[in-house]
Amino acid sequence: VLKTQESNGFVWYSDHMMSDKIRDRAVLSRFSDALGRGEIQLYLQAQVGAGDRHVIGAEALSRWVCEDGRVIPPAVFIPILEEHGKIWQLDYHIWEMACRLLKSWKDDPVFGSYRISVNISVKDIYYLDLYEVFTHLVEEYKIDPEHLELEITETVFMDKPKEAIALIQRLKEYGFTIAIDDFGSGYSSLSFLKDIQADILKIDMEFLRKTEHQERSRIILRSIVALARELGMPTVVEGVETSQQVRDLTQIGCDIFQGFYYSRPVPVADFEERFPDGLARPWSEPVQAEK
Ligand code: C2E
Ligand code: MG
Ligand code: MG
Ligand code: MG
Repeated sequence: VLKTQESNGFVWYSDHMMSDKIRDRAVLSRFSDALGRGEIQLYLQAQVGAGDRHVIGAEALSRWVCEDGRVIPPAVFIPILEEHGKIWQLDYHIWEMACRLLKSWKDDPVFGSYRISVNISVKDIYYLDLYEVFTHLVEEYKIDPEHLELEITETVFMDKPKEAIALIQRLKEYGFTIAIDDFGSGYSSLSFLKDIQADILKIDMEFLRKTEHQERSRIILRSIVALARELGMPTVVEGVETSQQVRDLTQIGCDIFQGFYYSRPVPVADFEERFPDGLARPWSEPVQAEK
Protein backbone atom coordinates (compact mmCIF):
# COMPACT_ATOMS: atom_id res chain seq x y z
CA VAL A 1 0.00 0.00 0.00
CA LEU A 2 2.67 2.38 1.03
CA LYS A 3 5.18 1.72 -1.68
CA THR A 4 6.01 4.40 -4.15
CA GLN A 5 7.22 4.22 -7.76
CA GLU A 6 10.48 5.96 -6.99
CA SER A 7 11.76 3.74 -4.22
CA ASN A 8 11.12 0.18 -3.25
CA GLY A 9 10.64 1.04 0.39
CA PHE A 10 7.96 3.39 1.57
CA VAL A 11 8.86 7.01 1.97
CA TRP A 12 9.49 7.83 5.58
CA TYR A 13 9.27 11.53 5.92
CA SER A 14 10.28 13.29 2.75
CA ASP A 15 6.95 12.66 1.10
CA HIS A 16 4.72 15.58 1.89
CA MET A 17 1.82 13.89 0.20
CA MET A 18 1.70 11.29 2.92
CA SER A 19 -0.32 12.33 5.89
CA ASP A 20 1.07 11.95 9.37
CA LYS A 21 -1.50 9.32 10.13
CA ILE A 22 -0.54 7.13 7.21
CA ARG A 23 3.14 7.53 7.96
CA ASP A 24 2.55 6.62 11.59
CA ARG A 25 0.68 3.52 10.53
CA ALA A 26 3.46 2.57 8.14
CA VAL A 27 6.07 2.87 10.88
CA LEU A 28 3.96 0.90 13.33
CA SER A 29 3.11 -1.89 10.95
CA ARG A 30 6.76 -2.34 10.03
CA PHE A 31 8.12 -2.04 13.54
CA SER A 32 7.49 -5.55 14.89
CA ASP A 33 8.99 -7.14 11.79
CA ALA A 34 11.91 -4.74 11.93
CA LEU A 35 12.61 -5.73 15.54
CA GLY A 36 12.46 -9.42 14.66
CA ARG A 37 14.70 -8.99 11.64
CA GLY A 38 17.33 -7.10 13.62
CA GLU A 39 16.77 -3.80 11.84
CA ILE A 40 16.69 -1.92 15.13
CA GLN A 41 20.36 -1.60 15.89
CA LEU A 42 22.54 -0.42 18.71
CA TYR A 43 24.82 2.46 17.85
CA LEU A 44 27.40 3.88 20.24
CA GLN A 45 28.72 7.38 20.69
CA ALA A 46 31.90 7.72 22.73
CA GLN A 47 32.12 9.73 25.92
CA VAL A 48 35.57 11.14 26.53
CA GLY A 49 37.15 12.23 29.80
CA ALA A 50 38.37 15.82 29.76
CA GLY A 51 41.50 15.00 31.77
CA ASP A 52 43.38 12.39 29.80
CA ARG A 53 41.14 12.30 26.71
CA HIS A 54 40.38 8.64 27.17
CA VAL A 55 37.10 7.04 26.31
CA ILE A 56 35.19 6.27 29.49
CA GLY A 57 32.17 4.72 27.84
CA ALA A 58 29.44 5.38 25.33
CA GLU A 59 25.82 6.31 24.94
CA ALA A 60 23.60 3.67 23.35
CA LEU A 61 21.50 5.24 20.60
CA SER A 62 19.07 3.33 18.45
CA ARG A 63 19.00 3.33 14.66
CA TRP A 64 16.55 1.68 12.33
CA VAL A 65 18.68 0.22 9.58
CA CYS A 66 16.44 -0.78 6.70
CA GLU A 67 17.10 -3.70 4.39
CA ASP A 68 18.26 -1.34 1.67
CA GLY A 69 20.80 0.20 4.04
CA ARG A 70 18.97 3.42 4.79
CA VAL A 71 19.42 4.51 8.37
CA ILE A 72 16.42 6.11 10.02
CA PRO A 73 17.20 8.39 12.98
CA PRO A 74 15.28 8.13 16.24
CA ALA A 75 13.72 11.57 15.84
CA VAL A 76 11.55 9.99 13.15
CA PHE A 77 10.34 6.80 14.81
CA ILE A 78 10.60 7.39 18.56
CA PRO A 79 7.75 9.91 18.85
CA ILE A 80 5.49 7.56 16.87
CA LEU A 81 6.39 4.53 18.98
CA GLU A 82 5.87 6.60 22.11
CA GLU A 83 2.49 7.78 21.00
CA HIS A 84 1.32 4.27 20.22
CA GLY A 85 2.59 2.46 23.28
CA LYS A 86 5.43 0.62 21.53
CA ILE A 87 8.54 2.43 22.68
CA TRP A 88 9.13 0.02 25.56
CA GLN A 89 9.68 -2.78 23.05
CA LEU A 90 12.41 -0.82 21.33
CA ASP A 91 13.95 0.35 24.59
CA TYR A 92 14.01 -3.12 26.08
CA HIS A 93 15.70 -4.41 22.93
CA ILE A 94 18.37 -1.69 23.13
CA TRP A 95 18.92 -2.20 26.87
CA GLU A 96 19.36 -5.91 26.37
CA MET A 97 21.85 -5.40 23.55
CA ALA A 98 23.75 -2.96 25.75
CA CYS A 99 23.88 -5.52 28.57
CA ARG A 100 25.01 -8.27 26.22
CA LEU A 101 27.78 -5.98 24.99
CA LEU A 102 28.87 -5.11 28.54
CA LYS A 103 29.07 -8.82 29.24
CA SER A 104 31.23 -9.42 26.19
CA TRP A 105 33.51 -6.55 27.23
CA LYS A 106 33.79 -7.67 30.81
CA ASP A 107 37.32 -9.08 30.71
CA ASP A 108 38.66 -6.78 28.04
CA PRO A 109 41.60 -4.69 29.26
CA VAL A 110 40.28 -1.56 27.50
CA PHE A 111 36.51 -1.94 27.18
CA GLY A 112 36.13 -3.74 30.50
CA SER A 113 35.95 -0.46 32.40
CA TYR A 114 33.48 1.25 30.04
CA ARG A 115 30.04 2.36 31.03
CA ILE A 116 27.16 2.27 28.58
CA SER A 117 24.37 4.74 29.04
CA VAL A 118 20.87 3.97 27.82
CA ASN A 119 17.88 6.20 27.29
CA ILE A 120 14.58 5.77 29.08
CA SER A 121 11.37 7.11 27.59
CA VAL A 122 8.68 8.76 29.65
CA LYS A 123 6.32 6.09 28.32
CA ASP A 124 8.40 3.15 29.55
CA ILE A 125 7.21 3.53 33.11
CA TYR A 126 3.63 2.81 32.01
CA TYR A 127 4.51 -0.55 30.52
CA LEU A 128 7.47 -1.85 32.46
CA ASP A 129 8.48 -2.24 36.07
CA LEU A 130 11.85 -0.65 35.50
CA TYR A 131 13.31 -1.88 38.76
CA GLU A 132 12.43 -5.45 37.85
CA VAL A 133 13.62 -5.07 34.29
CA PHE A 134 17.01 -3.55 35.01
CA THR A 135 17.87 -5.73 37.98
CA HIS A 136 16.92 -8.81 35.97
CA LEU A 137 19.04 -7.73 33.05
CA VAL A 138 22.22 -7.19 35.07
CA GLU A 139 21.67 -10.46 36.91
CA GLU A 140 21.02 -12.37 33.71
CA TYR A 141 24.08 -10.95 31.98
CA LYS A 142 26.19 -10.93 35.14
CA ILE A 143 27.33 -7.37 34.76
CA ASP A 144 28.14 -4.68 37.28
CA PRO A 145 25.14 -2.32 37.52
CA GLU A 146 27.55 0.61 37.81
CA HIS A 147 28.49 -0.01 34.20
CA LEU A 148 24.91 0.50 33.09
CA GLU A 149 24.03 4.16 33.17
CA LEU A 150 20.36 5.07 33.08
CA GLU A 151 19.60 8.37 31.37
CA ILE A 152 16.48 10.07 32.51
CA THR A 153 14.94 13.37 31.54
CA GLU A 154 12.58 15.40 33.60
CA THR A 155 9.68 14.40 31.38
CA VAL A 156 9.91 10.93 32.97
CA PHE A 157 8.76 12.56 36.21
CA MET A 158 5.98 14.75 34.92
CA ASP A 159 3.04 12.46 35.45
CA LYS A 160 3.92 10.59 38.62
CA PRO A 161 6.74 12.52 40.26
CA LYS A 162 6.68 10.79 43.65
CA GLU A 163 6.72 7.27 42.22
CA ALA A 164 9.40 8.17 39.72
CA ILE A 165 11.66 9.71 42.35
CA ALA A 166 11.29 6.62 44.54
CA LEU A 167 12.04 4.37 41.57
CA ILE A 168 15.23 6.23 40.71
CA GLN A 169 16.31 6.11 44.33
CA ARG A 170 15.88 2.33 44.40
CA LEU A 171 17.77 1.89 41.14
CA LYS A 172 20.58 4.03 42.50
CA GLU A 173 20.70 2.04 45.72
CA TYR A 174 20.95 -1.14 43.70
CA GLY A 175 24.09 0.28 42.11
CA PHE A 176 23.08 1.64 38.71
CA THR A 177 24.66 4.87 37.55
CA ILE A 178 21.97 7.52 37.15
CA ALA A 179 22.34 10.38 34.69
CA ILE A 180 20.10 13.36 34.11
CA ASP A 181 19.85 13.88 30.35
CA ASP A 182 19.34 17.11 28.41
CA PHE A 183 19.69 19.28 31.47
CA GLY A 184 18.97 22.90 30.77
CA SER A 185 16.48 22.22 28.00
CA GLY A 186 12.74 22.03 28.02
CA TYR A 187 11.28 21.36 31.39
CA SER A 188 14.39 20.83 33.46
CA SER A 189 14.27 22.81 36.64
CA LEU A 190 16.47 23.20 39.65
CA SER A 191 14.05 21.48 41.98
CA PHE A 192 14.63 18.38 39.88
CA LEU A 193 18.30 18.52 40.86
CA LYS A 194 17.23 18.76 44.46
CA ASP A 195 14.92 15.74 44.32
CA ILE A 196 17.02 13.39 42.21
CA GLN A 197 20.41 12.35 43.51
CA ALA A 198 21.91 11.57 40.15
CA ASP A 199 25.51 10.54 39.56
CA ILE A 200 26.01 12.39 36.29
CA LEU A 201 24.61 15.59 34.80
CA LYS A 202 24.35 15.69 31.02
CA ILE A 203 24.09 19.23 29.74
CA ASP A 204 21.99 19.88 26.68
CA MET A 205 23.84 20.79 23.51
CA GLU A 206 21.64 23.85 23.17
CA PHE A 207 24.28 25.82 25.09
CA LEU A 208 26.97 25.10 22.51
CA ARG A 209 24.97 26.41 19.60
CA LYS A 210 26.27 29.42 17.77
CA THR A 211 23.70 32.11 18.38
CA GLU A 212 23.61 35.78 19.15
CA HIS A 213 23.24 34.72 22.79
CA GLN A 214 26.54 32.87 22.84
CA GLU A 215 28.05 34.86 25.69
CA ARG A 216 24.98 34.24 27.84
CA SER A 217 25.10 30.53 26.97
CA ARG A 218 28.68 30.40 28.13
CA ILE A 219 27.84 32.02 31.46
CA ILE A 220 24.95 29.64 32.03
CA LEU A 221 27.06 26.64 31.05
CA ARG A 222 29.79 27.66 33.45
CA SER A 223 27.25 28.09 36.25
CA ILE A 224 25.67 24.69 35.61
CA VAL A 225 29.10 23.06 35.71
CA ALA A 226 29.93 24.81 38.98
CA LEU A 227 26.57 23.86 40.46
CA ALA A 228 26.97 20.24 39.42
CA ARG A 229 30.43 20.15 40.95
CA GLU A 230 29.10 21.42 44.26
CA LEU A 231 26.42 18.77 44.15
CA GLY A 232 29.09 16.16 43.48
CA MET A 233 28.01 15.35 39.94
CA PRO A 234 30.46 15.13 37.04
CA THR A 235 29.15 16.82 33.89
CA VAL A 236 28.86 15.46 30.38
CA VAL A 237 28.52 18.03 27.63
CA GLU A 238 26.73 16.81 24.54
CA GLY A 239 27.19 18.17 21.04
CA VAL A 240 30.91 18.92 21.22
CA GLU A 241 31.93 19.43 17.61
CA THR A 242 35.19 21.42 17.56
CA SER A 243 38.61 21.45 19.19
CA GLN A 244 37.91 25.01 20.30
CA GLN A 245 34.88 23.77 22.25
CA VAL A 246 37.00 21.04 23.81
CA ARG A 247 39.47 23.68 25.00
CA ASP A 248 36.78 26.07 26.27
CA LEU A 249 34.84 23.36 28.06
CA THR A 250 37.98 21.94 29.64
CA GLN A 251 38.73 25.39 30.97
CA ILE A 252 35.22 25.78 32.35
CA GLY A 253 35.68 22.49 34.20
CA CYS A 254 33.48 20.06 32.24
CA ASP A 255 34.40 16.48 32.97
CA ILE A 256 33.24 14.48 29.97
CA PHE A 257 32.68 15.25 26.28
CA GLN A 258 30.25 13.62 23.90
CA GLY A 259 29.97 14.88 20.37
CA PHE A 260 30.83 14.64 16.72
CA TYR A 261 34.32 16.02 17.39
CA TYR A 262 35.29 12.64 18.82
CA SER A 263 32.68 10.41 17.31
CA ARG A 264 29.32 10.22 15.68
CA PRO A 265 27.10 7.40 16.86
CA VAL A 266 28.42 4.30 15.06
CA PRO A 267 27.70 0.56 14.98
CA VAL A 268 29.37 -1.39 17.78
CA ALA A 269 32.02 -2.97 15.53
CA ASP A 270 33.06 0.46 14.26
CA PHE A 271 33.23 1.79 17.79
CA GLU A 272 35.51 -1.03 18.89
CA GLU A 273 37.71 -0.49 15.86
CA ARG A 274 37.79 3.25 16.29
CA PHE A 275 39.10 3.27 19.85
CA PRO A 276 41.17 0.07 20.17
CA ASP A 277 43.35 1.44 22.98
CA GLY A 278 40.73 3.65 24.60
CA LEU A 279 42.45 6.82 23.47
CA ALA A 280 40.06 9.32 21.91
CA ARG A 281 41.22 10.82 18.66
CA PRO A 282 39.40 13.51 16.78
CA TRP A 283 36.97 11.93 14.34
CA SER A 284 38.75 13.57 11.43
CA GLU A 285 41.97 11.68 12.16
CA PRO A 286 42.35 8.24 10.63
CA VAL A 287 42.75 5.44 13.18
CA GLN A 288 45.70 3.92 11.33
CA ALA A 289 47.85 6.95 12.08
CA GLU A 290 48.42 5.72 15.63
CA LYS A 291 48.99 2.07 14.89
P1 C2E B 1 19.90 12.22 23.53
O1 C2E B 1 19.69 11.10 24.46
O2 C2E B 1 20.10 13.56 24.12
O3 C2E B 1 21.14 11.79 22.62
C1 C2E B 1 22.07 12.68 22.10
C2 C2E B 1 21.73 13.07 20.69
O4 C2E B 1 22.61 14.09 20.27
C3 C2E B 1 21.93 11.94 19.68
O5 C2E B 1 20.96 12.09 18.66
C4 C2E B 1 23.30 12.25 19.10
O6 C2E B 1 23.51 11.72 17.81
C5 C2E B 1 23.25 13.74 19.08
N1 C2E B 1 24.57 14.32 19.08
C6 C2E B 1 25.64 13.93 19.82
N2 C2E B 1 26.71 14.70 19.58
C7 C2E B 1 26.34 15.60 18.65
C8 C2E B 1 27.02 16.68 17.98
O7 C2E B 1 28.20 16.95 18.20
N3 C2E B 1 26.28 17.42 17.10
C9 C2E B 1 24.99 17.14 16.85
N4 C2E B 1 24.34 17.92 15.95
N5 C2E B 1 24.30 16.13 17.44
C10 C2E B 1 24.97 15.38 18.33
P2 C2E B 1 20.09 10.87 18.11
O8 C2E B 1 20.88 9.61 18.14
O9 C2E B 1 19.48 11.30 16.82
O10 C2E B 1 18.97 10.72 19.20
C11 C2E B 1 18.07 11.77 19.46
C12 C2E B 1 17.30 11.50 20.71
O11 C2E B 1 16.45 10.36 20.54
C13 C2E B 1 18.18 11.16 21.91
O12 C2E B 1 18.66 12.34 22.51
C14 C2E B 1 17.20 10.41 22.78
O13 C2E B 1 16.38 11.31 23.49
C15 C2E B 1 16.35 9.70 21.76
N6 C2E B 1 16.83 8.31 21.61
C16 C2E B 1 17.83 7.81 20.84
N7 C2E B 1 17.91 6.47 20.97
C17 C2E B 1 16.93 6.12 21.86
C18 C2E B 1 16.50 4.86 22.40
O14 C2E B 1 17.03 3.78 22.13
N8 C2E B 1 15.44 4.92 23.27
C19 C2E B 1 14.83 6.09 23.62
N9 C2E B 1 13.80 6.06 24.48
N10 C2E B 1 15.23 7.27 23.14
C20 C2E B 1 16.27 7.29 22.27
MG1 MG C 1 20.53 10.46 26.06
MG1 MG D 1 20.93 14.27 25.73
MG1 MG E 1 18.49 15.17 23.44
